[in-house]
Amino acid sequence: MSAGLDLSRFQASGMQTCFHGRHITPQILAGLDGMNWRLSDYEARDGYQALRKILAEGMTPDQVIATVKDSALRGRGGAGFPTGLKWSFVPSQLPTQKYLVCNSDEGEPGTFKDRDILLYNPHIVIEGMLIAAYAMGITVGYNYIHGEIFGAYERFEQALEEARAAGYLGHGILGSDFSFQLHAHHGFGAYICGEETALIESLEGKKGHPRFKPPFPARFGLYGKPTIVNNTETFAAVPWIIRHGAQAYLQCGKPNNGGTKIFSVCGDVEWPGNYEMPLGTPFTKLLELAGGVRGGRKLKAVIPGGASAPVLPASVIADCTMDYDAVAKAGSMLGPAAVIVMDETRDMVESLLRLSSFYMHESCGQCTPCREGTGWLWRVVDRIHRGHGRPADLELLNSVAQNIQGHTICALGDSAATPVRTMLRHFRQEFVAKVVPAGDAQTR
Ligand code: SF4
Repeated sequence: MSAGLDLSRFQASGMQTCFHGRHITPQILAGLDGMNWRLSDYEARDGYQALRKILAEGMTPDQVIATVKDSALRGRGGAGFPTGLKWSFVPSQLPTQKYLVCNSDEGEPGTFKDRDILLYNPHIVIEGMLIAAYAMGITVGYNYIHGEIFGAYERFEQALEEARAAGYLGHGILGSDFSFQLHAHHGFGAYICGEETALIESLEGKKGHPRFKPPFPARFGLYGKPTIVNNTETFAAVPWIIRHGAQAYLQCGKPNNGGTKIFSVCGDVEWPGNYEMPLGTPFTKLLELAGGVRGGRKLKAVIPGGASAPVLPASVIADCTMDYDAVAKAGSMLGPAAVIVMDETRDMVESLLRLSSFYMHESCGQCTPCREGTGWLWRVVDRIHRGHGRPADLELLNSVAQNIQGHTICALGDSAATPVRTMLRHFRQEFVAKVVPAGDAQTR
């Protein structure tokens, strides 16, 4: 367990974040026991002190990037890519227009952390983006906000107005020669726009279709210019790192997994909500903070990183710590840490049907394996769920999933295939039981 942080607990539900006592020293959700999102509230919590420190001490862009690198901050949107390394791809002296983009297009089933950050602590994202812009010599940025969270968009716009009026945004920030313009952009709710190149296309006013990579956005991004895209929570982590130092942040988590992480716990728990915890917290501790499995039932399975992460049976997740490396070693991925808890009453065929329906609906249709395959997967799972499945359907599902995986432009194809393959791997008997007559399952 972290030496630097005591365990902290927050519960978020709808438009409210509830505070549940104990010793609280979180970094991103700090002070959010009420509606304390305004600039004055943020400044009272040392807000914008990291930016002031950089400007007052004359930290060079390279020093800022080195600090972020040393902190072992990894992208909080899902991929877990080292943030400082990503920033180093865009040298501050590169003599061309560059862009900074915040990816707040949070749409994966199970995720609901970024909307809470934007609603309850929007200035921390603005400050994080300011620091990133300073480090990479970027003068223009956008925050692309998911279309279904209009309240978060409005709140962020209000925070931008406050920041501009106070001299934190615009030309000659706080009397320095650093300038940065930041704009909010409201998406239309397509899940695929959370993929960074689809987001960039959408920001340019086109259909949200993912691009082939390479070239990566750091070379060819928004309007063909170098662009760095980071997740909302990633930016929100940066001010604390600058104020307290890379080592302090690193020690909050574990090696290669620095800092705290917001875990969005949902499903069959007593208190679904956002919990900011050190990376490396045992899963059992997280479950305990969320009130345990609802109704005192037994844990059956957990999807630890949002709908596209492999499902883990209770026996595997029980011994796991919640960090990028440990969850990967257990056979899944931490992703955005959207922890979907399933109790013993969950019908896995029905659960897979819901996930398959989602991916079929959200496929952008550019690649044949994804466009046709996601529909095919849904139709077969639906057939099994309605009791009309054939024994050969299980192999058919595996085969379709296999033919999608790795054969598409973006990761949505893989995301659609993963739940199918891992549900069949860990809970095959439930599928077998639906496609063969009762009592015959053992012989098939
Ligand atoms: Fe579109 Fe699916 Fe291809 Fe991604 S994998 S580009 S969502 S069709």
